[in-house]
Amino acid sequence: MRNVINSLIFCLITLFTSFGVMAHGTHLVAKTSVLLQLHIQHIFIGSSLILLLMCFTWAKASRSYSVATLALFFTVKSLSILVAGGISLLALLTNNLYFFNVESILLANLSNIIFFIFTIKLFALKKDEHNSYQLLLRLSIIIALIVPLSFLFSPNHTWLLTQISTSISLLALLYVTKCEKTVNVDLLKIFSLILIVQLSFNVLAYLLYYLSFSAHIINCVDMSAFWVMAIMVTYLMGHTYFCQLRDEKLAQQQVMSSVKTSELAQKELQILQDESQEQLESRVQERTLELNIALQELEAVNQELKEKNTLDDLSGLYNRRYYDQKIVAEFRRSRRNLTPLSIILVDIDHFKNVNDSFGHLAGDKCIVEVASMIKSLLRRSSDVGCRYGGEEFCLILPETDDKGALALAQEICENVRQQQVYNNENVIKLTVSCGVTTYQQEKEITPEIIFEYVDKALYKAKAAGRDQVQVMPIEKINLSS
Ligand code: GH3
Ligand code: MG
Ligand code: MG
Repeated sequence: MRNVINSLIFCLITLFTSFGVMAHGTHLVAKTSVLLQLHIQHIFIGSSLILLLMCFTWAKASRSYSVATLALFFTVKSLSILVAGGISLLALLTNNLYFFNVESILLANLSNIIFFIFTIKLFALKKDEHNSYQLLLRLSIIIALIVPLSFLFSPNHTWLLTQISTSISLLALLYVTKCEKTVNVDLLKIFSLILIVQLSFNVLAYLLYYLSFSAHIINCVDMSAFWVMAIMVTYLMGHTYFCQLRDEKLAQQQVMSSVKTSELAQKELQILQDESQEQLESRVQERTLELNIALQELEAVNQELKEKNTLDDLSGLYNRRYYDQKIVAEFRRSRRNLTPLSIILVDIDHFKNVNDSFGHLAGDKCIVEVASMIKSLLRRSSDVGCRYGGEEFCLILPETDDKGALALAQEICENVRQQQVYNNENVIKLTVSCGVTTYQQEKEITPEIIFEYVDKALYKAKAAGRDQVQVMPIEKINLSS
């Protein structure tokens, strides 16, 4: 923004100054050419100083090499015009005409070379990429080599040589604008126009020279040409900056819009992610619920299976498999806690006869009734009643001594004796024989040995006439006998 304001102020000053030059020139047209040149020179010096000041300030503010080159060009060019108009810097040091010649052509050609550099900077010509760069480089060397030739010529011829080298420079630059297609078209057009206008001024100067107009008038034309060029080049630079700023703004807008688009896309993505997260969470919850239900069902089925595995279908008591597991567990507990463990083995007497007399279904009914009786007599929750096989029942009584077990066995015997099993019109009377044994931390005893003891006790009860209880203390007998 500061650059634009700078360029605008600069343009206005330049414009007003050139109007002043023209007005002054018109006013003085009636006067002699010397006076005219003198007046214009004064204005030229003043306005050139302002122009240079503005240009250098602009170059510093914009930190642009092309503007700095332009400022240098204006300096050298205005000095060259002043020298051509008779204001020589070397005249302060020497009166030698040859040095005056050299100063004039040196400044003119130097300004041409600087203008080449300005063109290279303006169009960003690259040494390796653009042929125009090479052309301008070679032409610069040729122009530089012309300078020493001025020693051989008179001032008039030197002026002509200067004009020719300037014209060649302008034509070369015009050629460059035609060749270079890669640069900004608007820029090329304005630049070409500047060159054509300068060439026209050159042609006018030649004409005036051949029509034998005085050097003062020709110098006035040079000064006018300089100012027209200053205005046009300044406009060109302003336009370039305007284009640069516009492009930057456009790029910024594009960046902003792409940032907005990406932000929008990110927001949409976030929303989608949140939605999918919510969906996922609710699905997980649903699935977890389903799994929990399935787990509960599975647990129930497992429980059922476990019960089926451990219970006897007919009697409702635990089965033989359960007995085998339970007796090991209770034996260990008894040994660990130093508590007695009693076992009662119950066998229905002459059951074969029941089957034979009333049939197997009646026999089954008797098994169920006796089992139910036994179950009702097991009062402790730790007592376990199992159907050991056929019409035999085995009861595990943890923390029960021999007296307690004996009492329970007798109670079972008594109750079965009192029991009546109804089968159709028949009443079946049953008795049972019971073997009892109690483990009380005897050494070298296993659950299998305990069972052998209780089996012996049962055998003893059967042998003694049935419907009775027999106890077989573990230490009292030798199993091998
Ligand atoms: P003891 O007094 O010596 O025990 O005579 P017992 O007839 O009961 O002899 P034992 O114990 O050897 O015979 C058992 C009989 O029980 C054999 C079988 O016919 C019968 N039995 C075994 N299991 C079942 C069953 O589930 N249902 C029925 N109805 N009878 C069975
Ligand atoms: Mg039996
Ligand atoms: Mg029996």
